[in-house]
This record gives sequence, structure tokens and C-alpha cells, in this order.
Amino acid sequence: MPLKTLQQLLDEGVRGRHILVRSDFNVPLDDNGTITDAGRIDASLPTLKALLDGGAKVIVMAHLGRPKGEFKPEFSLRPVAESLSERLGRFVALAGDVSGEDAHERANGLTEGDILLLENVRFDARETSKDEAERESFAAELAALAADNGAFVSDGFGVVHRKQASVYDVARKLPAYAGYLVEKEVNTLQSVKDDPKHPYVVVLGGSKVSDKLGVIEALAEKADKVIIGGGMCYTFLTALGHNVQKSLLQEDMVDTCAQLIERYGDKLVLPEDLAAAPEFDKNAERKIVGLDEIPDGWMSLDIGPRTAESFGAVIADSKTVFWNGPMGVFEFPAFADGTKAVAEAMIEATSANDSFTVVGGGDSAAAVRALGLDENGFSHISTGGGASLELIEGKELPGVTVVSE
Ligand code: ADP
Ligand code: MG
Repeated sequence: MPLKTLQQLLDEGVRGRHILVRSDFNVPLDDNGTITDAGRIDASLPTLKALLDGGAKVIVMAHLGRPKGEFKPEFSLRPVAESLSERLGRFVALAGDVSGEDAHERANGLTEGDILLLENVRFDARETSKDEAERESFAAELAALAADNGAFVSDGFGVVHRKQASVYDVARKLPAYAGYLVEKEVNTLQSVKDDPKHPYVVVLGGSKVSDKLGVIEALAEKADKVIIGGGMCYTFLTALGHNVQKSLLQEDMVDTCAQLIERYGDKLVLPEDLAAAPEFDKNAERKIVGLDEIPDGWMSLDIGPRTAESFGAVIADSKTVFWNGPMGVFEFPAFADGTKAVAEAMIEATSANDSFTVVGGGDSAAAVRALGLDENGFSHISTGGGASLELIEGKELPGVTVVSE
């Protein structure tokens, strides 16, 4: 099913039309509400610029964090509006609500080349409702902002795996197209899914363990090696009989991990040593330990140096790598080594072995930038973690289907 592209919409003409765009501005903020990594905002610029240059009246929808259906000032898109204004070099107005009076008034007042950002769509509980009628009613209010001759552009790749009002339902109410970012992400990841060059190595880490354990099976069928680190690995190590002490553990999945180990054996590559700490703290003491040597009451916050080396060797041999999820708590500099080693091995494999290397995941991509690595050293850095995983796993993404022919 080919995508309906932004180029098609631009060819039809957007001048003077209200174009509703779903972007992904779910950026990390520090305690002062300052954006610490603007990668997703930057990734949204080409689509927004093309529409503005074409004379569209652009209305952008996005979410930030998990405000759980209520207006909460700490989840306001205000910092995003400011950052976007700077990056676009034009004023980005922020509506005082999502689909209420203020949004409607401001949408009506737009002129050609103006851009309006709606408040966090997750301030409205209907956005993520499981009840289709509730989502529909919200989507109808959003679509109404685009008036009679409007259109919808899906450009928030990080959310296209979600059947949510601003991603899916609204696209059924307006002529709908894939933005440049979604188009590029889908095409690139689809090529990894359909035709990976072998050896094909998948590297999994991060903390969303229960989400990600589900995909290992599908990926293990296709990949030659599945490297498991980060918060993911402790459930596997427990299944192998190690005592992971206070490390991240998904107890109800230990049996599943045992079955995966039995079924896929040598395909799964697990840590040999770990970097442990007495507490979850930036300044915590760091001790390199064997798998059975985590001190009582400590936790592992990173893979160890021998593991980093053996993971690196598997990656060096690859022709395709898909990496999702940091190998440790890279936000703490003392526990960033494992993540850095994997990222560096991928960069090296890209240039030295002509490997096609993909980073998928909000935090993984942020880690690459935070660690000062060269983003251009990878073949592709995806803006979506869950979405990229589901795509290469072969699942249908509702937010993509709805902008296809
Ligand atoms: P992504 O956004 O790339 O898909 P996740 O959201 O699943 O990745 O996970 C990222 C988080 O995982 C990071 O904030 C990191 O600190 C955390 N993490 C990685 N390893 C560990 C660990 N050993 N213990 C606790 N948290 C971890
Ligand atoms: Mg994440």
C-alpha cells in the first residue's frame, strides 16, 4: 500500500488552506522545563517549512509526556512553541487549549504562512480513549479546525503505532497524507524489514521491558543475532539462574525469557559482566562485577567492559544492525560506557563494513547526541522507538495505514 505523500498534497496546492499536521514533539525536559534534546523538533522542520513556504495555514497537534487527560502546566507545549519559533525563524502561536474556543478563534485568524500549535493533545482524555466514539468526537473537533478545504498531514512517526484521535481518527475525516519524516522513516525501516542484508543483528535494551519482550520472538526469527542489554537483560539473567539483586526485573516474564533462551539459544547474546551500583543515583559508586557477583542490595546500571567488547565484535561483523534501547542508564555519565560502546561499534561497522545501521528509539537517539557521537555516522536515526520496533517486526501501524492509498 503506497503512502499518499506530502508532495502530492503540495502539487494539489496548499495556499490559503488550513493544514492540520500531527508532529512528534515529545522531547525530554529537565526539572526547569528546558528541552534537553530537540532532535524530534528538528526532524519535524522540513514538513512544516514546505507547508509554510507553500502558503498553508498550518495547525500543529502534538503531545508531551503523560498528563493523563487533564490540563497540567508542567506538560504545556510552551517550551516547544518557543523552540519551534526559533528554529523556523517565525512566530509560532500557542493556543490556550486543544480544540476549544481559543484554538478555533486562532485557527480562523490564521493567514497564509502562519503557524499555530495546539496545546498538548493529551490534555484531552479522548485522545487516547479505547472508546472509538470518544476518540471520534475529539477528532471531529480537531478536523473542524481545518475548516472546509483542509487536509491532514501525519508526520509524528513516534506515534504512528498508536490508534489515537490526533493520529488515526482525524486522518479519516480529512484528505490525509504522510509528511516527509513519516515517509522517510517508513521507507527506510521497511527496507530493513523486507530485505535485511545478513548478518542481521538486533540490539535491544532500554527500560520498557514488558513492551519489548514481546517483539523479541518476531525479531529472533529474522535476525542472525539478538543482543540483549539495558534494562531488558536482567529478566533473562534471572531466567538463567543469576541473582540480579535490585536490578530492573520483570518477574512475570522470567518464564517467557527462559523459553526464548531455550528456543533461540546461541542467537541471543547476553552480558558477561555488569557495572553495578548501590543505588540509582548519578554519583553512585560503580563496580564491575561478574553475573553472580552483584553485591547484596545493589543493582546493575550498565553492561560491563567485557560485554561491551563482545557486543562490539558481533556488531563489527554485521551487514544490518537495528538498535533500540540504551545498554545502561546513559543519563548518568558513569553508566554510559556500554551505550557508547554499542553506538561506536555501529558507527565503525557503517564505515568499515558497509553495514546498514539504524538507531530506533527516542532515548537511544538522544543518547547518541548526549554522548557527543556523530549522528551522520549511522545509516538512519529513527525518531520513534515503539513505532520503529513494530514496523520492523512486521506489525501494521494504524497511523501509516490511514495515510496510504
Ligand atoms: P527507547 O526510548 O530508546 O526506546 P526506552 O524508553 O525503552 O528506550 O529506555 C530508555 C531508558 O532505559 C533510559 O532512560 C535508561 O536510563 C534506561 N535504562 C537502561 N538500562 C537500564 C538499567 N540497567 N536499569 C535501569 N534503567 C535502564
Ligand atoms: Mg523511551
